[in-house]
Amino acid sequence: MTRTTELLRVAHAHPGVTRADAARHLGIGTGATTELVARLTQASLLAEVPAARSGTRGRPTTALVAHPSGPLVLAVAISHRAWRIDVVELGGHTVASADAPHTGRSWPDVVAGVTAGIAQLRSRYGDRLRALGVSAPGPVTAEFRLDATTSGWHDVDLHDLWPDAPLLTAGNDASLAATAESARGAAAGASVALHLLIEYGLGGAVVDQGRLVIGAHGASGEFGHMPFGDPAVLCPCGARGCWGTAVDGTALARHLGQPPQPDPVAYAKGVIASPAPAERAAVAMAAAALGRGIAGLVNGLDADLVTLGSIAADLLAAAPAELESAYHSGLMAIRRDSPPPLVPAALGPDGPIAGAAEAAWFHLLDHLG
Ligand SMILES: [Zn+2]
Repeated sequence: MTRTTELLRVAHAHPGVTRADAARHLGIGTGATTELVARLTQASLLAEVPAARSGTRGRPTTALVAHPSGPLVLAVAISHRAWRIDVVELGGHTVASADAPHTGRSWPDVVAGVTAGIAQLRSRYGDRLRALGVSAPGPVTAEFRLDATTSGWHDVDLHDLWPDAPLLTAGNDASLAATAESARGAAAGASVALHLLIEYGLGGAVVDQGRLVIGAHGASGEFGHMPFGDPAVLCPCGARGCWGTAVDGTALARHLGQPPQPDPVAYAKGVIASPAPAERAAVAMAAAALGRGIAGLVNGLDADLVTLGSIAADLLAAAPAELESAYHSGLMAIRRDSPPPLVPAALGPDGPIAGAAEAAWFHLLDHLG
């Protein structure tokens, strides 16, 4: 990595870092840093703004921020129902955003909406848009092909979203949310962080010392398909007893004796918000099933922090006693003295798109220095 790339990475990871602190991060002198900053400012990659003085006697210093006409990335989050596009500058700040529901259920409908959104942003930002990061609701191959079984999108090509994209990166929503939580959210500083997200099923990821564990085929993190659930229940993946079927909207509907719901996410949110006793009991069962499974994963992975996103966070908020009690009783005795905390993801629904932006910036920075 060149010094300029290193400096850009520091400015990205610590937006508004002072020039003096950047020099410390890089382990180089202030003179050399001044020279680097001058070069990057000249190239419209960085800008300097006055920073607050450090201490009363500190000399005025400058903070390193994104250049007002510098490069930008497009982060796209595709869910089963809708798309959203964020324009993100160096440092992770979103400068513009667009979103809309899909106009139909087929992949071409999704592509039509997203490409129109991208075209509009390109007419506004032009060549400043240098990379595309995509968050998708299913496993993504190294060739950027997506399988999202619940939506019926099989082996679709994510290149369709912006065929001429100068740089493309993509991943599944749960992995990207985990990346973002570790970079800028509730798991910053954790050694081994487990992130779990429930929407249409349960997904997640492990971030080990800041690195996402992706697996041999990039499809790690399918924790929802571990057999922690009821062996009598058939999962859409073809297996029986999947954990995901014990904690999501389909589980709540089953506990309440209701038919499968067309939108299990909206349905789950409705059930979790309801004060009715039958609903409370269903929520308690799902929360306990979530806690038991988390204990299994923590026992196996030796994670020191667990972040919960979307409906998993809602279950923690709605039935903390049931969830924590199932979690603690499933932990090995050696882990029970200081159980790894279960915390809601700090980035919430913004996690996947923030992770897509991080992934795009991660690759783009290699090309800028
Ligand atoms: Zn399954």
